[in-house]
Amino acid sequence: MKKFIIGNWKMNLNVHEASLFVMKLAEGLPIKRDVETVICPSFIALQPLSLQINHRQMKLGAQDCYWRDSGAFTGEISATQLRGLAQYILIGHSERRHIFGEDDREIRFKVQAALRNSLTPVLCVGETEFEYDEGDTLHVLNDHVAGGLLNVGSDQIQDVIIAYEPVWAIGSGRTPKPEEIEQAVKIIRTQIAHMFGKNVAKNVPVLYGGSVNLTNARTILSVRGIDGLLVGGASLIAPEFVGMVEIAGEIAKQEEIKNE
Ligand code: PEP
Repeated sequence: MKKFIIGNWKMNLNVHEASLFVMKLAEGLPIKRDVETVICPSFIALQPLSLQINHRQMKLGAQDCYWRDSGAFTGEISATQLRGLAQYILIGHSERRHIFGEDDREIRFKVQAALRNSLTPVLCVGETEFEYDEGDTLHVLNDHVAGGLLNVGSDQIQDVIIAYEPVWAIGSGRTPKPEEIEQAVKIIRTQIAHMFGKNVAKNVPVLYGGSVNLTNARTILSVRGIDGLLVGGASLIAPEFVGMVEIAGEIAKQEEIKNE
């Protein structure tokens, strides 16, 4: 199965810096048949980068969108406006949920907006540290998956990606144990199976995000059921990001040989 390495640049780099960074990235980034490499810069950098990048080498994603297609929504950017500039949209990132107060209702409207506009939503789900300590991960993941995917049609679900991002792991330097990630992926796929059937659940890409770096990337990418990484901080260090794409390519190849 294809691996995804998605870099979330968050609110970093101006347009000029973004262009210089992509130049550096492009020098080392391999083009792998089984790896989809995606960078998610700020909105303002999407247009110039869409003209700069080699689209076979990397794709572009947005970090958010508004759920209406157009209208009197000052300051917002819609999925309709992103069409042609980005192919992916991060939706429900923990910073959107916890800093900007987005709830499951708004998040599912955004998932639908992305799908309506032929963009791939990357629905981010994950528990806070408090919820983790309370043993509530199962309920939180079930709620986030069900809440985000409610109203997604059975003909649309194959265009959705899920990213498991424990809030306590984001930017903290801490990651769950591999068996905890495996368990979370199982919970996510079980919930998708309840909603859309087992076959669909098997095929929906599930990524991990939260303090991934070049040192832990191989271990995490080797967790059963994980199809890629959503990378924050380390995606702004070119050799780290390139290294993760290389590792994803190696693992995809090993899996292909095993399945032959
Ligand atoms: C993120 O922002 O999605 C993320 C995973 O950040 P970091 O890799 O820096 O923890």
